[in-house]
Amino acid sequence: MTEDNPELEGLEARLETESKALHVNLNELKSGGYIKQRQKDKFTIRLRCPGGAMSVERMRKIAEVAEKYAEGRVHLSVRQSIEILDVDIAHFDAVAEELREAGQDIASCGPRVRVPTACGGCEYNPNGLMDTQAHALMVDEKFFGTECPHKFKITFAGCQIDCPRARGADLGFVGQVEPELVPAECTACEICVKRCEDDALVMVDGLPVRDIEKCTLCGDCVKACPFDAMIQGQAGYAIWVGGKGGKKMRLSDHILDMAQEEDVEGLIQKTLDWYIANGDKRERIGRTIDRVGMDDFKEEVLS
Ligand code: SF4
Ligand code: SF4
Ligand code: SF4
Repeated sequence: MTEDNPELEGLEARLETESKALHVNLNELKSGGYIKQRQKDKFTIRLRCPGGAMSVERMRKIAEVAEKYAEGRVHLSVRQSIEILDVDIAHFDAVAEELREAGQDIASCGPRVRVPTACGGCEYNPNGLMDTQAHALMVDEKFFGTECPHKFKITFAGCQIDCPRARGADLGFVGQVEPELVPAECTACEICVKRCEDDALVMVDGLPVRDIEKCTLCGDCVKACPFDAMIQGQAGYAIWVGGKGGKKMRLSDHILDMAQEEDVEGLIQKTLDWYIANGDKRERIGRTIDRVGMDDFKEEVLS
């Protein structure tokens, strides 16, 4: 179930009538991760799964609860959540309690910081340059549920392939790396030059030389070099802000390169402070930036 798709007017009216009969506020329930389905008295319960990773023990418990209190069916959301389908409102407390005992919390919807998403990152993905999973857990612990003018999604990608679409999030972090040449190992094979899609490498006096204006810090030349002559230097995150999907998409803006991991938490805090101070109700941060100005945003967040 996705909350970004507007419901049909008639369906909304029917759900409203049902909620009154149940003596519940659908918006409050949705804020707590309980989303009304089309079916009478049935809800989808969205679970809190930062970075989309969990132990199989927790997975077993989720399966057990889905069989015991629902129809034994779950949905994997596009933002790495597990959603238990077809839960009757009468079972909310029992579901939440049993899940909590297994260390599984329920997610949150509405105008607040959502559960962060992340790819596998450098912990086990060969392309990963940054520890995206660790950063997703940090965001979940420190920022999840922070109230904002509208929803606020944070995503971490381990490299520029950007599988989790960090560049479509309100705040996206994308792994980068500074390539370093070890001249003594270089055979002048030019494989790295041919591999660079940004034309940032040229051979000068038998060695590849990098144009830092053109280099996007993608690391492809490091991966391509068969002689360990182009090696991985310092890694960091490119930061993108203001992306959103929905009916009126907005592409995110690139605001910084090579942010270090010790800066991630502070950058998120400053971004949220600016958004909360400047955003209008139901306005995503990208629109706030369009209205207030990127210069103002950068001055507050990057200074
Ligand atoms: S974004 Fe990069 S590191 Fe992350 S899963 Fe994709 S290829 Fe691997
Ligand atoms: S890091 Fe990427 S963009 Fe930079 S020189 Fe290497 S391949 Fe080219
Ligand atoms: S691929 Fe490696 S060995 Fe070949 S030119 Fe580039 S740095 Fe030198």
